[in-house]
This record gives sequence, C-alpha cells and structure tokens, in this order.
Amino acid sequence: MAPLPNRPTAWVSGAGPTGCLSALALVRAGWRVSLHDPASAAALQSRSRAYALTHSSQALLQQLELWEPLAPHWQAFDRLELIDCSSSKQVSFRGPAQGQGQDPAAVGWILNHPPLMAVLLAACRQQPELELLLGQPASGAEARQRDLTVIAEGGRSPSRERLGLPFWGWRYQQACLTAQVQLEGNGEHTAWELFRAEGPLAVLPLGKGIAQVVWSAPLDRCEQRSALPEAAFLDALTAVLPAGIKALALQDQAASFPLEWRLAPRLGQGQLLLCGESGHRCHPVGGQGLNLCWRDVAVLAQEAAAVSQGQQSVRQLVRRYGRRRWPDLLATLVATDLLVRLFSNRQPLLQALRSLALELLGRCAPLRQGLLQLATYGLGPRSLDKKGVNPE
Ligand SMILES: Cc1cc2nc3c(=O)[nH]c(=O)nc-3n(C[C@H](O)[C@H](O)[C@H](O)COP(=O)(O)OP(=O)(O)OC[C@H]3O[C@@H](n4cnc5c(N)ncnc54)[C@H](O)[C@@H]3O)c2cc1C
Repeated sequence: MAPLPNRPTAWVSGAGPTGCLSALALVRAGWRVSLHDPASAAALQSRSRAYALTHSSQALLQQLELWEPLAPHWQAFDRLELIDCSSSKQVSFRGPAQGQGQDPAAVGWILNHPPLMAVLLAACRQQPELELLLGQPASGAEARQRDLTVIAEGGRSPSRERLGLPFWGWRYQQACLTAQVQLEGNGEHTAWELFRAEGPLAVLPLGKGIAQVVWSAPLDRCEQRSALPEAAFLDALTAVLPAGIKALALQDQAASFPLEWRLAPRLGQGQLLLCGESGHRCHPVGGQGLNLCWRDVAVLAQEAAAVSQGQQSVRQLVRRYGRRRWPDLLATLVATDLLVRLFSNRQPLLQALRSLALELLGRCAPLRQGLLQLATYGLGPRSLDKKGVNPE
C-alpha cells in the first residue's frame, strides 16, 4: 500500500489519561484527531488520585516527549518492599546500581493525577492536528465520519454498552480506599506493598513526606474507614503500616471505590477499538492499572503508524491491536487476581507455599529481577525501552 495522500482521521472518546495519550500518540503517528470528553478541563484535572508508573509507561512518555515536562511532578522510588503480614516475611526490590557516586535507577515513579492531566491537556492544545472538544455533549455522528474511533471512556464506557460489546468478569468482594497522607518515618524513595489477610495495602511516596495509600479491604470496611474522623482514620492506618512509620495528617478526603476484574473478549469491531479501562479493569495490586492502559496506547501507536505509512488498513489495525493486546491483558489480569487470592488466604497449605515462595524470592536475585521485569512490561512491547530494571 502507498502512504495515504491525506492524514487518516480518528475520533477519541474520553480524555482521561488513556484518551489524552492515545490522541497524542495518533497525532505523532501522522493522524488528525478529535478528542472528546463531556467533562470540562477543570473537572478532568480535579480527580484526587496518584499513579505508580513502570518503565513501560516511562518509555511511552519519553517517546511522546512528555517525560521532561512531567519531571517536576513525579517522584522516583528505588526500593519496593514487599511484606507478607501473616508470616512477616519481607522481600526488597531495588533499582540497579548505575555506577559509582550515582543514585540507583528507579523501580518506578509516582505521579499525581492533576499535574499529569495538566501536562497532557497542554500538550494536546499545542497540536495543530488535534481538536480538543471538552465540556460538551457529542451526537455520535462525528465519530462515524472518522476513519477510526478509539473508545477510552473508562470502565463504565457508555459507548461499549450501547454497542453491546461484552465485558467479561466480576466484581471483587473487596473495595479500595485511597488517600494522600503525611507520613513520619518513611524514606522518600521507598514504596511498600503489604499483603494483609483483608487485602493488599500499597504506600506510594509522593515526596515531601506525603504518600498515596491504596488500601484494599471488604467494601463495608472501606466505607467505614473513609467515614472515620481524621484522627481515628490516622490511628487505624498507623496500626497497619510497617513498624516505625506513622500517619500524621490527611492531605485529602479518603475515598473508596469498588474493584472489578473485567476483560472485553473483543477489543475492536470494524473501525472501532476499546482502549484503557474501557477494555479491561484489574485489582490495583502491583499498580498495574494505568500502566496496562498505556501499553494499549503503545501498541495503538505502532499500528496507527503502519496505517499512515500505507502498510495496512484501519480494519487491519483494529484486528492486529486486539490480537496483540489480548495475551498481555489476560496474563496481567490473571496474575493480579492470583496474587490477591493467594495472599488473602489463610489456608495453612497455601500459607506454607507462600512462605516458601517468598523465601526463594528473597534469596534469588535473578528471580526478583524476572518478576520485576514481568511487572514492568507484562507481555507487552519491550522495544520502547532498552534500559530495563534489575533488582539488586
Ligand atoms: C475513585 C477512583 C480512584 C482511583 N484511584 C486510583 C489511584 O489512586 N491510583 C491508581 O493507579 N488508579 C486509581 N484508580 C484507577 C485509575 O483511575 C484508572 O486506572 C485510570 O483512570 C484509567 O484511565 P482511563 O483513561 O482508561 O479511564 P478514566 O480515567 O476513567 O477516563 C475516562 C474518561 O472518559 C470520559 N467519558 C465517560 N463517558 C464518556 C462518553 N460517553 N463520551 C466521552 N467521554 C466519556 C470520562 O469523563 C473520563 O474523563 C482510581 C479509580 C477510581 C474510580
């Protein structure tokens, strides 16, 4: 096929982190893009949450020249401490040493949602080939006039439901409580994943002593905790944090949201595809959620470039996107689910197995390295980043 005489066109529905990044990646791949969200720019930036980014997300942001603009906002962490609270076994993952006198490389980065969205929306506004349509309804006819529709409307995607595209899965008995908290006694560059019987608890450093807490537990317990007065909430949190770490003050309102395991058996149809949480949702254990969404974007970008270079049609893009994304999505969703089930279980045989696995992990650096690589890239494309990460 010869390169297309005109730029191919795309309608991206949903301007959350996945929709914005998809729109920017498509423009870079030579497309003309309309990015639509019924929410205003202010509403898009006001959500209170923070993401743990892996090297696969860093590579995509670097490729799109967004990593540097985000540099004042992310906090790198070079230690990830994993604790099984029932056996008190602890395994340390470290970024690789980078040479004498240099800081170790990051295991990952924590980034707050508001500055992320501010940078993404500013980058969108700078692109002449990108039309940003925020805070207004759309009729649906606009999408049909484009070569490709990317649905990035989040887990409750109205378009996916209207089209009757199935979304397999279930709702967990657990929910997730998130809050930003001022801590005492936590290193600025240390993240924690504590496996507790009621569900995993992650502590993600945001700098200046503040951390994002991602606390999974049964839904009613999350709701009770988020309704506690600040002092009682901080006491409850301190009681479950690692020894020596104390919660001093809440920086925002604790909020809980239900957790789901969902995967669309078909990620595309005709000239339309599902991207990010419109196509899959997983438990937040291991911080996979947004990284998985952005690995969708990385594959979309590669396939979109092949269309604008005349190497394939839009329908081929949609088919190849689905085929390429499914193994990574399925493997990551199954792995996160198994982790939650394995560690939320008090069955003696499973506890013994878990203890053995952690003992092995603690003693075997190549095993830790392999696990970290898997958590970083899943089965998604690795070619974006040559550096990789290695545990100590
Ligand atoms: C309350 C809550 C707190 C969370 N906290 C954390 C956290 O602390 N850390 C973390 O890693 N993850 C967190 N998550 C998960 C995280 O938000 C998702 O992984 C991430 O937002 C997925 O990005 P997305 O762009 O695919 O979807 P979303 O961020 O959900 O974006 C979807 C966008 O689509 C728009 N939209 C909806 N309907 C339409 C339509 N019909 N047409 C056009 N646009 C539409 C919405 O307005 C929204 O802007 C949280 C989720 C929730 C619900």
